[in-house]
Amino acid sequence: MKTCIWCNKNEETVTFNKKAHIVPQSMGGTEICANVCDKCNHFFGANHKGIPPIELVFKEAFNITRARLLGKNNVGKNKALSRFKSIYFNVDFEKNKIEVKPSFKLQYGFQSMLCRQFKRGMYKVFLEENERINGDSIDDKFDFIREFARFNIGDLPVIYFPSNVPFLLTAKDEPQTPNFSFQKKFEFQNTENGFFEIYYLGHVFSFPIIRNYDLVFENYIGESIRQKQKFYKKPIILKYLTEIDLTLSFINV
Ligand SMILES: [Zn+2]
Repeated sequence: MKTCIWCNKNEETVTFNKKAHIVPQSMGGTEICANVCDKCNHFFGANHKGIPPIELVFKEAFNITRARLLGKNNVGKNKALSRFKSIYFNVDFEKNKIEVKPSFKLQYGFQSMLCRQFKRGMYKVFLEENERINGDSIDDKFDFIREFARFNIGDLPVIYFPSNVPFLLTAKDEPQTPNFSFQKKFEFQNTENGFFEIYYLGHVFSFPIIRNYDLVFENYIGESIRQKQKFYKKPIILKYLTEIDLTLSFINV
């Protein structure tokens, strides 16, 4: 009997007819999480009272990086990315400049909201990939992630490590099929201390996987900075999406 990792309801009360893509299928994700009900699956892609859909913000942000990684030759009709277009951002790939389009920028609080939806998207893909790999996302210990990602309660951090050196560890097919793979390990990954780190499309992100993360934060961040100091600048607790080097400006193009 399937139980939804987001709402905890099972097949007696909800349906599981649609395939729930962990990373949106429309940005090339191929992995599926079986234990997501149709209602919750719909929720992450849907527009609620004019708030940008979680999956759309995730896709918008990472499509900037995908466009950079794929290069001009792989963007176009019948290619991995049909063409680069963005609802929320103006992007100048040559100058590595990203800004929120003026029509949105002028809306009070829009940029914080965009970042909040992005963060919820990161936790969403984390918990679904965790279910696919470890099968324990229904555990109470992840309630704090459910509250934030699915029910919009509270606030959780996403930490970003800006790169310092011009190298990329991205797997060859990652821009084509950008799955949020747990298996892909990188050298300076700090896997203890209650935080999860991932190398995704050339970016390093981390976020807590325990509710009381503030108790271990200082230990974690100190150790993580020490490990990464040669290769990464000071980490940023994200407030705005434009703090992420989405065009990968460290690559020489
Ligand atoms: Zn559900």
